Amino acid sequence: MAPNFIQRFQFQPTPVRGELCRLSEAYQAVRAKHQYPEPVAELLGEAMTAVALMTATLKLEGSLILQIQGDGPVSLIMAECNQRGELRAIARFDEQAAYTDTQWTALTGAGRLLLTIEPDDGERYQGIVPLEGDSLASALGYYFQQSEQLPTQFLLTATADMAAGMMLQVLPGHNDDEDLWPRVTQLAATVKDDELLHIEPEQLLYRLFHEETVELFAASALAFRCSCSRERSANALASLGLDELRDVAAEQGGEIAVDCQFCHQVYRFDSVDIEQLFQPVSDAPNHIQ
Ligand SMILES: [Zn+2]
Repeated sequence: MAPNFIQRFQFQPTPVRGELCRLSEAYQAVRAKHQYPEPVAELLGEAMTAVALMTATLKLEGSLILQIQGDGPVSLIMAECNQRGELRAIARFDEQAAYTDTQWTALTGAGRLLLTIEPDDGERYQGIVPLEGDSLASALGYYFQQSEQLPTQFLLTATADMAAGMMLQVLPGHNDDEDLWPRVTQLAATVKDDELLHIEPEQLLYRLFHEETVELFAASALAFRCSCSRERSANALASLGLDELRDVAAEQGGEIAVDCQFCHQVYRFDSVDIEQLFQPVSDAPNHIQ
């Protein structure tokens, strides 16, 4: 079993489904990009796990972005995943804070949770709810209850080495067994962090739900990969306008360096590059039909 994976399961024959996720290298790669206090890094691990769990349930091609914006020492948690299993994440935090109280509410304070779906083709969709509950898992449960009306349970955990999680969700549809949801969510709530992190999925599901019929599907891989590119940086620069860019370049010794905050890749644009961003398309050589 690959150490970075997402794996779906389904309670047959019902509309209740689940996902299991475990991250090691992908999480380590994100931690290695910045000096995060341990509780902040672990929150990022939980957010990466959560966004991977949710991306696996999306029906369209694209990316899902989870953001937590708060007034506590951790002002931003952002994690992004696409359907190729590529993950990236970043946190903004107060470097002066002591981080002695590692409770969710002490770290994030009051704020909001945003989920953005960016399809490869089509309209962007964003849902926003206030931060509720005493964990990222409960804040996400509240989001699905408020925003999607889909009963959803999250269990998330992270250590210095790994992050892991499970999500259960009832899809709209006929369900003869009305007790199933309260029954499986109660059982899921008994899972220990150590089990989420280390027990093989088949074994974990058997331990929790051995009286139910659970079908486990094939796992797919997850990895850290930043979606930044020179082209995306160029588009972002172009939106600022030529005059502004000429001024910035003049202040910075003739070039503009765009530093990706997720992966530290630097894209440099010298004055020729900057002028070319604004070349009309008709300046391109004519193609002979
Ligand atoms: Zn990047």
